[in-house]
Amino acid sequence: MESDVVIGLEVHVQLNKLNTKLFCPCPISYHQSEPNTHVCPVCLGMPGAMPVINKEAVKAAIKVALALNAEVQSFTVFDRKNYFYPDLPKGFQISQYDRPLAWGGYVTIETESGEKKIQLKRIHMEEDPGKLSYKGSITTAKYSLIDYNRSGVPLLEIVTEPVMNSPKEARLFLNKLRIILEYLDVFDGNLEGAMRIDANVSLKGGGRVEIKNISSFKGVEKALTYEITRQRNLLRRGRKVVRETRHFDEVNNITVSLRSKEEEQDYRYFPEPDLVPIYTEELINEVKNTIPEMPEEKRERLIKQYKIGDNFAKVLVLDINMANYFEEVAKLVSPKLAASWVVDVLRGELNYRDWDFKIAYEKFKPEEFAELLNHLQHEKITEKGVVEVIRTKLDEGGKVDEIIKNKGLFAIVKDEIEKICKEVIEENPKAVEDYKNGKKQALNFLVGQVMKKTRGKAKPAETAKIIQKLLQ
Ligand code: ZN
Ligand code: MN
Repeated sequence: MESDVVIGLEVHVQLNKLNTKLFCPCPISYHQSEPNTHVCPVCLGMPGAMPVINKEAVKAAIKVALALNAEVQSFTVFDRKNYFYPDLPKGFQISQYDRPLAWGGYVTIETESGEKKIQLKRIHMEEDPGKLSYKGSITTAKYSLIDYNRSGVPLLEIVTEPVMNSPKEARLFLNKLRIILEYLDVFDGNLEGAMRIDANVSLKGGGRVEIKNISSFKGVEKALTYEITRQRNLLRRGRKVVRETRHFDEVNNITVSLRSKEEEQDYRYFPEPDLVPIYTEELINEVKNTIPEMPEEKRERLIKQYKIGDNFAKVLVLDINMANYFEEVAKLVSPKLAASWVVDVLRGELNYRDWDFKIAYEKFKPEEFAELLNHLQHEKITEKGVVEVIRTKLDEGGKVDEIIKNKGLFAIVKDEIEKICKEVIEENPKAVEDYKNGKKQALNFLVGQVMKKTRGKAKPAETAKIIQKLLQ
């Protein structure tokens, strides 16, 4: 157990499904664009340019805060956070300080020792800085390049209390947060830089270390694991863990010292004079009813409505597209059958191809999947056959029934098996006599003959029963 470890996270989330930036009308969708093409005097920080708040961004932020059980404040204020860096053309970031959008809230995660509520400290809005890049690496490049397309993209900073006790808990928290944001339809986690994390970590008896700007989920777990080992080794040798800010080197999987930790006063926060405070009451009312069913509620409903096991419901709600897919299939066939084939098989086949359920919607429509399961339900195809159809459909396309026909996967119906059994009995009088004289192997032989004639499509146990009945 790593109970002497304390971790807190500051998660920067891009509200990247909005159309425009936080304080100007520049379009957000910059990921495929040439650098510095989505810019204007406001997001380039030109003197005299005035910010205008994007109402949709505030509404999206409130939606997230409410879904995270936080207390949205009745009024909220923007502040200037001053620091000098080329990604920040104004010389300050418009952020929030002592009047953030919301206080508190929590996210529930499932750990090995049961449910755990990860308490949140605060949620505030701020603008994304520009993006620096280097030819080669940061240490060898002769100059840095700057792209201001990202400058001014609406960010939410979600700050947790220092309540996580292992890198794994941090990962579970981030996974859950991502799922919630995707349910709210304000966030696309697949876009580069959509979620960037600063992690605070300390060990009992050591100083607090902040690891800045980790840009992936996996990065967080790795950075924390490395950092905990580093701190533990220092303490073991009787040395001090100094309070500092470190950078995570994702190539070498280590953290390196950046600077001694800056203090809050270094930022000289003061209220942004170009923006008025926001009164939230009306916006809260507008947003309240637009919050969709969240993962926990959906999980309970799926169990109730479709009578499926919690083991399936739990997995289904991890991806809203998968849950929707399941529901469409479950309306057409036995929901239990749908749950196990969607969760156990289709999900696996998609994973294997590095695809998700968005792609499933294109390659294998829910109603076609239901059609296939219907054949299984009526024993027109074997389970093995279903798997083969799924693979073929995903890799080569085509119609379900045609694939089954072309591959000869239609199971033989009972009448047909009975006919073949009769043939086999007629053709093998010696075996029949042996069977009647009590020789058990004779039955196996007859079943084997039927299997041979049906090329393995008859079920042995069922065939045995039919033969026994015919020979009574
Ligand atoms: Zn702009
Ligand atoms: Mn921030």
